[in-house]
Amino acid sequence: SDTLHLRIRAGRITEQLYAVLIEDISEQRRFEAMRRDFVTNVSHELKTPAGAISLLAETITDAADDPDMVRYFSGRITKESARLTEMVKRLIDLQKAQNSQALNLSAANVSVLKVVREAVQENAVQASNKHIRVNISFDGTPVAPTAAEAAQRDEHGDATVFLDEEALTTAVKNLVENAVRYSPEHTTIGVGVAVAGGKVTIRVVDQGIGIPADSLDRIFERFYRVDPARSRATGGTGLGLAIVKHCVQECGGTISVWSREGEGSTFTIELPEAKNAADTKTEQAPAG
Ligand code: ADP
Repeated sequence: SDTLHLRIRAGRITEQLYAVLIEDISEQRRFEAMRRDFVTNVSHELKTPAGAISLLAETITDAADDPDMVRYFSGRITKESARLTEMVKRLIDLQKAQNSQALNLSAANVSVLKVVREAVQENAVQASNKHIRVNISFDGTPVAPTAAEAAQRDEHGDATVFLDEEALTTAVKNLVENAVRYSPEHTTIGVGVAVAGGKVTIRVVDQGIGIPADSLDRIFERFYRVDPARSRATGGTGLGLAIVKHCVQECGGTISVWSREGEGSTFTIELPEAKNAADTKTEQAPAG
């Protein structure tokens, strides 16, 4: 009976090993396919502006004695190279967000209002070019756009989270950037921060073009765009929300979206509130 017992156990082990091996290979295949898709997409996205630049440069040489033409073509070259640079910057961001070691994550107590103000500030020029107002609020109450103004108004209240500040700033910055990009002129964007039940919510609400229902579950994919032509024309790369998703995940949070075409979109980040929120202001204090 000893021999029989052994054989059964050996069989089981083999069976398990077999199953594990199959699993491993299919996982690897899926990863390989994803990587291949990604490389194809990246090369395509980079080739388009790169090709345009060399074509425009050739044309400019032919039109060298017409100042108007030279001005026109160099303007286009500048635009295409800006796009190329943006694309590469985004790819590096995405790479970082997918690889927490490269991101060099360092968690600390972070002021959510500080992050939100920075994200809004980073998009201030684009917003004002489109006459778009960006309002910040905390638990429903309007908040001064800068920390200095807030101090003057003697404002109180903030939310504190324990995470990597750069990752959260990148996420919120990208959401505000999209809100501005996909909103018509003279509209308002709201960025709201709220705390309830140990959870911090950051909401970016726009009155923009909205997202069709059947695209909603795809917009966080890399290179997915509802309208590629429009996104490209407005400087989009299709990478913004993929970056947002990864950053929010690295922060231990979740991201969700509500949207209706012609009405607008709301992106909501939910994060756990820092346990020791009171330490935010003293974190810079020298130890001992
Ligand atoms: P892109 O660089 O093209 O903006 P994203 O990954 O940031 O790429 O977004 C993916 C797609 O989701 C966009 O191309 C756009 O179609 C849609 N989208 C994202 N944010 C918004 C928004 N606030 N309003 C309307 N559509 C949006």
